[in-house]
Amino acid sequence: MDARVTTAGHETRPEEPFVNRRDPALALGPDGRPAVSRRAPRWADVPDATWNDWRWQLSNRVNTLDELAGILELTDDEREGLSAPDKFRVDVTPYFVSLIDPRDPDDPIRRQIIPTGRELRSFTGMMEDSLAEDRHSPVPGLVHRYPDRVLMLVTTQCASYCRYCTRSRIVGDPTQNFNRREHEAQLDYIRRTPQVRDVLISGGDGLTLAPKLLESVIRGLREIPHVEIIRIGSRVPVFLPQRVDDELCEMLGRYHPIWMNLHFNHPNEITPEVSRACDRLTRAGIPLGNQSVLLAGINDCVHIQRALVHRLVENRIRPYYIYQCDLVEGAGHFRTPVGKGIEIMEGLRGHTSGYAVPTYIVDAPGGGGKIPVMPNYLISYSDHKVVLRNYEGYITTYEEPTTYTPHDSAHCRYCQAKRPEPGQTGLTGLLDGERMWIEPADFEQIHARGTETPHRLQDPAKWVPLGVGPIEGRAGRPLPRLAAPEGARAVGEVAPPAGEYGPGEEPRPPEGAPTATANHELL
Ligand SMILES: *Cc1c(COP(=O)(O)O)cnc(C)c1O
Ligand code: SF4
Repeated sequence: MDARVTTAGHETRPEEPFVNRRDPALALGPDGRPAVSRRAPRWADVPDATWNDWRWQLSNRVNTLDELAGILELTDDEREGLSAPDKFRVDVTPYFVSLIDPRDPDDPIRRQIIPTGRELRSFTGMMEDSLAEDRHSPVPGLVHRYPDRVLMLVTTQCASYCRYCTRSRIVGDPTQNFNRREHEAQLDYIRRTPQVRDVLISGGDGLTLAPKLLESVIRGLREIPHVEIIRIGSRVPVFLPQRVDDELCEMLGRYHPIWMNLHFNHPNEITPEVSRACDRLTRAGIPLGNQSVLLAGINDCVHIQRALVHRLVENRIRPYYIYQCDLVEGAGHFRTPVGKGIEIMEGLRGHTSGYAVPTYIVDAPGGGGKIPVMPNYLISYSDHKVVLRNYEGYITTYEEPTTYTPHDSAHCRYCQAKRPEPGQTGLTGLLDGERMWIEPADFEQIHARGTETPHRLQDPAKWVPLGVGPIEGRAGRPLPRLAAPEGARAVGEVAPPAGEYGPGEEPRPPEGAPTATANHELL
């Protein structure tokens, strides 16, 4: 075949270089120069070089009612929030406040950073430290909640302050800040704790630290041989993309492997400046993820979430988690039902690229850790069949293999190199039938260490067993003795003495007896 025929129309013309119009980091404005986002009139005369200087942005943040009234048409609710004496800190970079539509009181960016009177109201279940982080802190600012990774709070400062912040008990408060001495104590704990292989730098926002101080923390971590990955959780690229300069990327690039999780909640936050900042980070070899919070009135909509995850993936940011709003002071009016999150996940999974689908997480109040909320895609399971449901409601079965040779863990060097610390052995004793449920060894004593009163859900005395009652463990109250149902035993089999139960005969509260639901404890 004539080669000229097959290549016709595909010839590259060197005199016309290819222009990539899809890459958001290359977007051009109407003047043919790199696109820029809107600037509030107040700063119209600031020279570009000044506007793009992150130090200028930080030192010109707005925080008072008067300043904000000059930028936005404030509502009475916002005036009430801004005038409250003990409110969570307000501070917004000129760049970020400029993204707000000054006439729209429901603007999704505005609702994240401008206080309202509503945030002063308390609600059922509200807690100051809803994730019980203080209780899991072996040294100030270090939270060791999971077996192989720690959260390292290196500062309480952020570039701007989110009204729903989970750590509002310390964030923003300069008197509670962490300094070199605390960083050294944190590093020392990690040095002495070899199971820590993943360190998550957060705060506050680590990227607001002075560059030298940030580098000294990162270098300190890199000098610890068992620290495999360093993660930075930051909202600086959202509030202050100017901070992501070549110097920062070059510095971070020297301490790989470094991963970064950003925090976008709405597509409006992804501006040309943000696209260029993220492009710089990914070019420095840093994989980017996103953690967003499900917020009423801001992003509690499957279409907004879908637009958000598409914009993220377009910017090479992988949606990682979407968090249920924590039970924290000031966040009551942002809370949504869990059903909303499930609905959003239903609208993403299968409907769009797997890359664009985050995991929906409820961070368990009281410090139980992150719990993924999975809609029921796995409907049922037997010894040879799995019943599955897809996103369209199509129900199908998957036949299990009959010839599966179990993995030979005796000859597997990964199995044999078990980590010594708890929580790393894989099977927990539940699947192999050794145990029926698991609870930490010091479940009841956990609170004896803290000073705060336990949340009512953490008081085992208030628990009512739901079907799977204790066999030999502790119970909040004696279980009603139940006769096994007629026909539940094979002919000739001896009924177990009352109060003892065979497999599948766990005690259940009889009709009318209180259940967890009836007590309003679990649901
Ligand atoms: C969220 C969190 C982590 C990280 O959890 P991943 O699920 O690995 O992202 C680690 N420590 C604490 C205390 C956390 O809250
Ligand atoms: S950036 Fe993070 S730590 Fe800072 S105020 Fe927002 S949620 Fe809180």
